[in-house]
Amino acid sequence: MNTHHKSILDSAKSERKDIGNRFYKWRSLNPSVHNEVSLQEIHQEVFDDTDCISCHNCCSSSPPLITTSDIKRLSIHLGISKKVFRQKYILEDFNGELSFNKVPCHFLNPDGACQVYDIRPEACRRFPHTDEADYFKRPKLNAANTQVCPAAYKIYKRLEDSIPV
Ligand code: SF4
Ligand code: SF4
Repeated sequence: MNTHHKSILDSAKSERKDIGNRFYKWRSLNPSVHNEVSLQEIHQEVFDDTDCISCHNCCSSSPPLITTSDIKRLSIHLGISKKVFRQKYILEDFNGELSFNKVPCHFLNPDGACQVYDIRPEACRRFPHTDEADYFKRPKLNAANTQVCPAAYKIYKRLEDSIPV
């Protein structure tokens, strides 16, 4: 992560409590208020202005959840069995949830690029979930993501201007 992204996350950290409170207030608003905001447009504008390769903080610090479809796709790509893939790369928690077993991610190149970008896990494609229809229903996840993802924090700041509470 470069100094630009680090300074954005420092700001997010200093506002952590306010961010959490605001997301919970936003959730309690009438959905018509959410619909007045063009979340997709804000998401697109922020990501157009974000260099994920130079950031790669999600890949360095947060192991994504992995689905059985992800395992099938990635193991075929690597030319290994699903069993071997699970042994090498997957951690299963007490709930049966699967995730990669280490950070930084096995598939993160030193330059910040993803070695399996075109077939990356669904959770990697969706992170930080800022363009999803149920975004405002997930205050805890959204607040946590602002602490990891500079783009998620920038989207939050755009919403802070648009939805006063
Ligand atoms: S698979 Fe790729 S996008 Fe997903 S965490 Fe690993 S390096 Fe990042
Ligand atoms: S999605 Fe967020 S945390 Fe991940 S690389 Fe892009 S800006 Fe960084």
